Amino acid sequence: MTMERAVARIDFDAIRANCIRLKSELSEGTELCAVVKADGYGHGADGAASAALAGGASRLAVATAGEAEQIGRRYQHIPLLTLGALTAAEVDIVLSAGSEVSVWREGFRAVLADRARAQGRPAKVHLKFDSGMGRLGTTDEAEFLALARACDADPSLEPAGIWTHLATADELDSGFFDEQLDRFEALVATVKAEFPGVLAHAANSAAVYRDRRSHFDMARCGVAIYGLDPFQGDPSEHGLAPALSLRSYVADVKRFPAGASAGYGQQWMAPADTWVGVVPLGYGDGVRRGLSNNAEILVRGRRQPLVGTVSMDNVTIDLGPDTDVEPGDEAVLIGPQGEDAIFAEEVAARLDTINYEVTCAISARVPRRPA
Ligand SMILES: *Cc1c(COP(=O)(O)O)cnc(C)c1O
Repeated sequence: MTMERAVARIDFDAIRANCIRLKSELSEGTELCAVVKADGYGHGADGAASAALAGGASRLAVATAGEAEQIGRRYQHIPLLTLGALTAAEVDIVLSAGSEVSVWREGFRAVLADRARAQGRPAKVHLKFDSGMGRLGTTDEAEFLALARACDADPSLEPAGIWTHLATADELDSGFFDEQLDRFEALVATVKAEFPGVLAHAANSAAVYRDRRSHFDMARCGVAIYGLDPFQGDPSEHGLAPALSLRSYVADVKRFPAGASAGYGQQWMAPADTWVGVVPLGYGDGVRRGLSNNAEILVRGRRQPLVGTVSMDNVTIDLGPDTDVEPGDEAVLIGPQGEDAIFAEEVAARLDTINYEVTCAISARVPRRPA
């Protein structure tokens, strides 16, 4: 493999296998909807979507109009749902892309109906219920039913789904998860009595593993399809394999006498004579500055501490007083090398965040290439 300054290697077979695995967790008849928003959580939406479909996903979901346009044009025969709020201008884009649309309030329903009529094709709508996330949607059953009936009565709209989102599926000690499911279950019973054909969906990746009661007709899975652990632990415990690795190389190796400093602000000084390696990627690539003096990078299968401040385009690593590392050696920030591996969950813990943010942060400057 030729060396590159910074590259995200994506293992599409892993995404496919993760979907097969997830699908096997789902209740009979529950569809797998692969969530490929935010450029497939940083993995590349197009490749992720095609791998997920090969692994048994039967639907796709995105968050924004731009994402719907990209994915809808490419996968015209696959039902696509745009989850997020849309402006009137964005509605036109999403409908042209053939996507199904979330509806969360009467004002938006009216805009959507208007735009669908103008395009001459009924819009399939998924009505959003707020069972406790506190974002889009009404918390009131009567208001929800009125919205569903208004959609049904409008020839330019077609009720296709009812859905909610769970706030604490990944927090195993939270009873709020059960409260939300109780509320949504009651709503599903009421709505299906009147509109038996609608698809009910609530589960994200964590919910799929946590409780089969959340599965309903479809599960919207993102993080797990990429082999990231929804519970921020070890993905292999769920049979998931991480699909992304972030790789660079050692561009320079230099002698540091005791007291010499690396990087902006002299945030690290060699405590003793040592060798320092320079790796040419930084926060401009999505390697967060919070990793300054707070990360490890694999070189020759060994963990080398990141020392000093993360710059926009460079980081430095302490190779120790006696090293065999040479310029040109591969450097791995996320992923396996030799016998060891650095997981996105480990990086996330250092940054006091979640694996989702770590892979989403990898910037557009980093090419995504097949592993
Ligand atoms: C992002 C998203 C998902 C996917 O969640 P994961 O935890 O990544 O599986 C599901 N539903 C909605 C509404 C989302 O925004």
